[in-house]
Amino acid sequence: MKKDNCIFCKIANGEIPSRTVYEDEKFRVILDMGPATRGHALVLPKEHFDDLYEIPADWAADAFKVGRQVAASMKEKLGTDGINLVQNNGEAAGQTVMHFHLHLIPRYRGDGAHILWKPTSPSAEELDAVLAQIIG
Ligand code: 5GP
Ligand code: ZN
Repeated sequence: MKKDNCIFCKIANGEIPSRTVYEDEKFRVILDMGPATRGHALVLPKEHFDDLYEIPADWAADAFKVGRQVAASMKEKLGTDGINLVQNNGEAAGQTVMHFHLHLIPRYRGDGAHILWKPTSPSAEELDAVLAQIIG
């Protein structure tokens, strides 16, 4: 189902034009308008799902299949040295458009893009505590 007033529903379904790098029956992959690096793209499902909690497992799997295919094409055509797949869910995680999307962020040696986190140093007790909470 599409959602009224969702910009990514409109883009994914071609109601708003976009720079499309790949399209099939279920997905459209577009260039991000504020790219972290050259070629930064977004895998958009044509159906509306808010986020990872809502997207059905088969759609999530297919989003990664599409991402994998486009990543391979970027490696060949753009000469990328690596790629980050990023997928934000919830405002706390930096999600700004509430329609599931998978970021494909090509990386180039020395590109200086800021994507990864700063590691913390939790105690063994804290690691045990969080493990117990997750699997408990
Ligand atoms: P989020 O922060 O939700 O994970 O990512 C949203 C991304 O969508 C951002 O990287 C932003 O630049 C991109 N974006 C937002 N609106 C548009 C749009 O209308 N067109 C395109 N091509 N990208 C958009
Ligand atoms: Zn939508």
